[in-house]
Amino acid sequence: MPDSEINSIPVLSGMPLEELAEYISPLPHFRAVQICKWIASGASSFDAMDNLPLPLRKELGERFTLRPDAAVQKHSGDDGTVKLTLQFADGARIEAVLLSDSSGRRTACLSTQAGCPAGCVFCKTGAAFLRNLTSAEITEQFLQLKALADEDAASVSNIVVMGMGEPLLNLTELRRALAVITGTKGLNFSRRRITVSTCGIARGINELADKGPAVRLALSLTTADESLRRRLMPITAQEPLAAVKKALRHFQDSGGGRITLEAVLLGGINTRREDAAGMAQFARGLDAAVNLIPWNPVKGLEFEGKALRQPAAAEIESFTQQLKALGLNVTRRYRRGRGVMGACGQLGSL
Ligand code: SAH
Ligand code: SF4
Repeated sequence: MPDSEINSIPVLSGMPLEELAEYISPLPHFRAVQICKWIASGASSFDAMDNLPLPLRKELGERFTLRPDAAVQKHSGDDGTVKLTLQFADGARIEAVLLSDSSGRRTACLSTQAGCPAGCVFCKTGAAFLRNLTSAEITEQFLQLKALADEDAASVSNIVVMGMGEPLLNLTELRRALAVITGTKGLNFSRRRITVSTCGIARGINELADKGPAVRLALSLTTADESLRRRLMPITAQEPLAAVKKALRHFQDSGGGRITLEAVLLGGINTRREDAAGMAQFARGLDAAVNLIPWNPVKGLEFEGKALRQPAAAEIESFTQQLKALGLNVTRRYRRGRGVMGACGQLGSL
């Protein structure tokens, strides 16, 4: 099914309040608020909306779709990670993950595309691209993960848009979904607890800076060696690092706050002395912290004819120390989710 057709199925759960109000008009605005609240509380049909008159519930059910059709499969790991696979009506399959850490924090990791057109050689998602997800399909992942957290009498404390796909290549639908998720009359999630991770689409970063929403930003730098970066992340051939850095500065000048520079560590490839120096050089003039993610293995992925491998413990340690010695603030990503193939870069079934 082409994108245009998918996007033309209007689904209320993907509409920010004002859009929903307009869409269901001439029904009064307070009806839109009621529906928004029901969606936020997890209602999956109009029948459940017992503060709406019965004939209206029936009419709404005949005229509108409340939430997208999704077949959901749940995979639980022993480290508290839960991965959900959602299959939509056209067959597109995507994944969303709920990560729990030792301090009880629960992070929802959301996908924005089925597959990814960026083609990064180290990432399972990059092997194929099917289509953009709609706002309702992005919101649906959050609603499903929130319901899981609710079962444990917990709540989702953070959102990372780091699942399948490149968020800034689907910014229109992502922006609508984030408006739903942060809407004060509905899910009311704090913008500052949402991080969008991008491979570095300068136009998208500028657009976020100019039009919002005011979420946190992470750049998957991987390496500041432009030639190596282009070979590892083919899409970046159209995104020179100078333009990306300029966009990041604009984002920070517009009040965007501290950004994260992420680097997936590929054994023997981007952990050289010059990679550390390049990263420090790139970070200069930015308010940035570095997050290192040791590569999570995915079978069959290779770089220029050689199988990719995980970095050795000593390699990770030495690279971390080099970055610290260059004055960078460095953290290391924990590897939750591997047991269910739900860790960074391991999401992939279309
Ligand atoms: N497309 C966006 C967000 C999804 S990828 C982006 O690239 O930022 C999220 C993160 O996972 C990125 O930082 C990416 O570099 C990292 N990643 C991809 N494949 C990985 C793998 N196999 N192991 C560890 N991290 C990986
Ligand atoms: Fe796409 Fe991000 Fe994977 Fe690259 S790392 S292929 S941008 S999902």
